[in-house]
Amino acid sequence: MDMVFELKAKLKCSGDLSGIVSSPEITEFVSFCNHDLLKKGAPPGCGAEIVWWNVGEERIELKIVSDRFVRAHDALLRLKNELGKLLGKHRIGIRGVEIEEYKMALDWEEEEGLRIGKLPFVKEIKQENGKLELFLDVDEVSLEKRIPDRIIRLLEDKKEAIRWRGKKEHWELLFESPKKTFYFDKDPSEEMIKRGWIRHAAGRGQWIYGPQLTKIFRAFEKILFDDVCKPLGYEEMIFPKLVTWDVWKRSGHAKGIYPEAYYVCTPKTRDPEFWEDVMDYYKVTNEVPIAMLMERIENVGGMCYAQCPPFWVFLQGKILPDEILPIRVFDRSGPSFRYESGGLHGIERLDEFHRVEFVWIGEKQQVIEHARLLQEKYRGIFNDILEIEWREAWVTPWFMAQEGKGGLAELKEVGTVDYEAVLPYSGKWLEFQNVSVNGDKYPKGFSVKLQSGEELWSGCSGVGLERWAAVFLAQKSVDRDKWPEKFRAIVGELPEVFRFL
Ligand code: ATP
Ligand code: ZN
Ligand code: MG
Repeated sequence: MDMVFELKAKLKCSGDLSGIVSSPEITEFVSFCNHDLLKKGAPPGCGAEIVWWNVGEERIELKIVSDRFVRAHDALLRLKNELGKLLGKHRIGIRGVEIEEYKMALDWEEEEGLRIGKLPFVKEIKQENGKLELFLDVDEVSLEKRIPDRIIRLLEDKKEAIRWRGKKEHWELLFESPKKTFYFDKDPSEEMIKRGWIRHAAGRGQWIYGPQLTKIFRAFEKILFDDVCKPLGYEEMIFPKLVTWDVWKRSGHAKGIYPEAYYVCTPKTRDPEFWEDVMDYYKVTNEVPIAMLMERIENVGGMCYAQCPPFWVFLQGKILPDEILPIRVFDRSGPSFRYESGGLHGIERLDEFHRVEFVWIGEKQQVIEHARLLQEKYRGIFNDILEIEWREAWVTPWFMAQEGKGGLAELKEVGTVDYEAVLPYSGKWLEFQNVSVNGDKYPKGFSVKLQSGEELWSGCSGVGLERWAAVFLAQKSVDRDKWPEKFRAIVGELPEVFRFL
């Protein structure tokens, strides 16, 4: 991408510059910048240049034009440092830098479906003739934080995201089970509601599971303990279910979780006086004054979304001895929450759902090999115990594909296998679990290292209990008699507790 940067800045000084305005020192300094300082690190003929300057009473104004090799903001910071030394000799300091104008112009081919309407730290955007011009609203601190570079990265990400959305190649069939007999052609959620096994809870996408379905969930868990955890050497842990922003910054979720998160807030203070008007309002109206509430709380993060990220704090900043690898742990201690889009449907797509999450950590080859072992165990379960019709597909989220720059081979190592099954009543395929190899993403994000210095990788697999139930019951019916022998034995009798008049 070709880029041009134009920056106009005012360096405010702590003393009168009139004595050095016309001294050769300044001209020499500019010449040194243009021939040496602002060219350092760039290919011959490239870099930044001071194209105009003006020395006033207590300030120096200048305009820098650059290419992408020494970007104008880098040039300014370099130059300020050197100028500080020069002025220091005259006992004058630089008090501050004011960015008067900063324009970035990028080569920009239009991408269908991508509209750049608003960007952080950008006050105006012009898009014409294959160029994108951004007029930035930045100060010195933003330049030190490399905000302009990040804006460019953001634009590249947006472009990449659009390209991947249009492509289907990131779904690839890996395995397909033999056809199976289906014993049901209805929606099992509807049937369970009729039988009083489940009832919609007070919240959006939230259900109360009666004793029968709960027993089925526990049977699924038992299968996972006996056929996955035991043979593969997993130990159970309890992962937190409230996730603070620090975790989501490290796991990468802070980049995009916003429309799907369930947010968690704490009171700004516990002082009962601070809350008195809220309590009084409720007492006289029987209405919870949400708007008043919102002013008195602050957000600290959200509810469990992907289950494994908060676990990583356990390892954060630690060095692991090589002998303890591969680490294999799992969590089933609580629900996950997602603000799902419209398609909420029975127990297939929920805002509150339950999942068993497996996490394994090791050297690259160990992690890849373990994912294969896990896939084998799952195949056994679906073919021999649940006897469902299902398939495995390789899916690569675009952000992973983007990070795995090593080409296709690398893509095949990092990424996700989705497990899908057909729902006979609708003919649709539903993802019911996955196996992901996450590369070094989590160890890097949480600064976990290996004693030997070898690269540390990890993987995770999330088994959605409601999804297993949705798939199994849709294919095998809600009648226990129709279930495969082995599964019936594991579940045992279904308890009858409630009757309604
Ligand atoms: P989908 O494409 O169906 O929204 P996803 O790709 O968002 O699924 P992941 O983020 O990979 O799902 O989550 C892992 C597992 O968690 C899924 O395979 C599924 O078993 C379960 N899961 C995710 N979202 C839900 C949900 N809204 N309701 C029930 N289970 C879910
Ligand atoms: Zn995970
Ligand atoms: Mg989803």
